[in-house]
Amino acid sequence: MFDTAAAKTHLEAALAELEARLTNISRDLSEPPSPDWSELAIEQEDEALEHQAALVEREIASVRRALGRIEDGTYATCVRCGEEIAPARLEARPEAALCIDCANSAM
Ligand SMILES: [Zn+2]
Repeated sequence: MFDTAAAKTHLEAALAELEARLTNISRDLSEPPSPDWSELAIEQEDEALEHQAALVEREIASVRRALGRIEDGTYATCVRCGEEIAPARLEARPEAALCIDCANSAM
């Protein structure tokens, strides 16, 4: 039986860290750029930050969904095929929603 309490602790820590990262990125985005920078450099920097923010937001969403699955008792069950997700996989990726077979076939 997988230890969901430990997974929850991990997920909550990951969520706090991701939210802190997102706050940092938003702050960088709202900061006035250095006057030495060219328009193009500023644009590229903002694009990179927005890309990062989008990635972090996606991770936050998947961690939140994993926490939701812990709440409703469906954690560690593949959302696609309903098979149990291997504990080793959940230890590596506690937010995993798919078993290894479904994750591989989704690629
Ligand atoms: Zn599956």
